[in-house]
Amino acid sequence: MAQIDILIIGGGAAALSAALFLPEKTRALLVCKPYNLGCSTEYAQGGIACPIDADDIQSHIDDTIKAGAGRCREAVVKLLVSEGYELMGELLKMGAPFDRDENGALLRAKEAAHGKARILRAGGDQTGVKIRSFLLEKLRYPARFGEVVDLLIENDRCYGATIASGDLRENIYARHTIIASGGFGALYAVTTNPPSILGELQGIAAFRGRKLSDMHFTQFHPTALATGAPAQKPLLSEALRGEGATIIDDRDRRFLEDYGANELSPRDLVSRAVFAHIKSGRKAYLDLSGFDERYLRERFASAYGKLIEFGLKPPFGKAPISPAFHYAMGGIAIDERARVLDTKGLYAIGEAAMSGAHGANRLASNSLTEALAFGAIAAETIASDSSSAKERSFGVIGEPSRVEGDGEVLDTIRDTLWNRAGVERDSASLNKAASVLEALSERKLGLLTRRSLITARTIISHAIDEKQSVGAHYIGKESV
Ligand SMILES: Cc1cc2nc3c(=O)[nH]c(=O)nc-3n(C[C@H](O)[C@H](O)[C@H](O)COP(=O)(O)OP(=O)(O)OC[C@H]3O[C@@H](n4cnc5c(N)ncnc54)[C@H](O)[C@@H]3O)c2cc1C
Repeated sequence: MAQIDILIIGGGAAALSAALFLPEKTRALLVCKPYNLGCSTEYAQGGIACPIDADDIQSHIDDTIKAGAGRCREAVVKLLVSEGYELMGELLKMGAPFDRDENGALLRAKEAAHGKARILRAGGDQTGVKIRSFLLEKLRYPARFGEVVDLLIENDRCYGATIASGDLRENIYARHTIIASGGFGALYAVTTNPPSILGELQGIAAFRGRKLSDMHFTQFHPTALATGAPAQKPLLSEALRGEGATIIDDRDRRFLEDYGANELSPRDLVSRAVFAHIKSGRKAYLDLSGFDERYLRERFASAYGKLIEFGLKPPFGKAPISPAFHYAMGGIAIDERARVLDTKGLYAIGEAAMSGAHGANRLASNSLTEALAFGAIAAETIASDSSSAKERSFGVIGEPSRVEGDGEVLDTIRDTLWNRAGVERDSASLNKAASVLEALSERKLGLLTRRSLITARTIISHAIDEKQSVGAHYIGKESV
């Protein structure tokens, strides 16, 4: 029976940060889905929120709590910001490639609902790719592609996970298992997330009796490029608005004020304004005409490339936009040391977890901070754990991961979540969603689709339980 010290599930910022800070001489293994399915980290453009100096820590905490609409766990926010500040210092010492001006000073951008310009970035708008490459270069452990299909949990302890690679299934036994499998954005019809992010580990954890929290707090980004392409939409970063891009309609009119918002209002306000305007029959655009083409190409290389890829020609003028699912505030419930509640040997970090740092609405660019900080916290927690566990063996779960018809079921989940639990939801739409998803659960499904369905159903049930609008959970007028 193969037994290792630490199994890390995921290949994004959270997983790689945990790997970076694990104790020396650890037998660890990192498992994630094949590279071409992507991870959210590599799409992150805007940057990483980090206090400018020690005097800015309190103000970053205050901004985070304000954005969280009364639902943050204050102690966790303090931990996030102070740990994030220390950590970024360490990463800089290790050579993290954050952008600097000609005098070597760090460049910092301002994003929505931040009182100050405190967002660090790398490669202009390629922060995620650059930071992930930097962390990958530092990876000291073996990594392999595979899909986690189950967690080996008995009573209050986790013993590892079952991995599927092609037709091969095997149990990997580990003293500590870290879930860093990202959010659940690919369960929405319109999303900025890549296709690997199906909320499977949240569903597996719930199936194995672990608690999911705040699943209905889902953040929508107001300015995804409205392409006709399937699910994943390219993001037109908030930093573009930070640098002067405006939101206009098909009459070239700036309309956000009609809805009590402006270009730098919090994401939920701007998303709702764009959503309502499109619903009223108009079209929405990001007006890029104020940008010099060369500046746009150099400073926003990612967005520039996507605009070209989707058929827009420079100078771009205006780009069609739509809100899109962007970020899951909820997830597997953890404590301040990244431990999954009531479970020894199991940790959850990054977007897969619900630490309480974001409350009902995440402050822009705090998620990479959280992924990196809680990766380091999980590693510290494991290093200080001296408990021992008896070895235990489990049978390998036999159900196929996917069966014919799963694609159609996933599409129904996507349409249901987007149309009935999206930017706006109400009790009628949520109840309808609950019955559509319940009917799907009667069908023959692959194991992982069944677990994604648990995640989707939990999003809906948490939304039904939250009767008032709060943060990103916005109850609109009854529509169904
Ligand atoms: C377009 C876009 C732009 C963003 N911009 C920013 C930004 O500027 N600043 C910011 O702070 N945040 C931003 N975010 C959010 C941020 O990128 C994510 O919250 C963060 O990267 C999540 O990191 P993670 O390590 O938790 O998960 P991810 O980076 O999503 O990694 C999850 C990993 O888990 C693996 N996985 C999933 N399921 C399984 C399974 N069953 N078995 C095995 N492996 C599995 C995946 O393959 C992947 O490797 C952005 C997100 C998107 C989509």
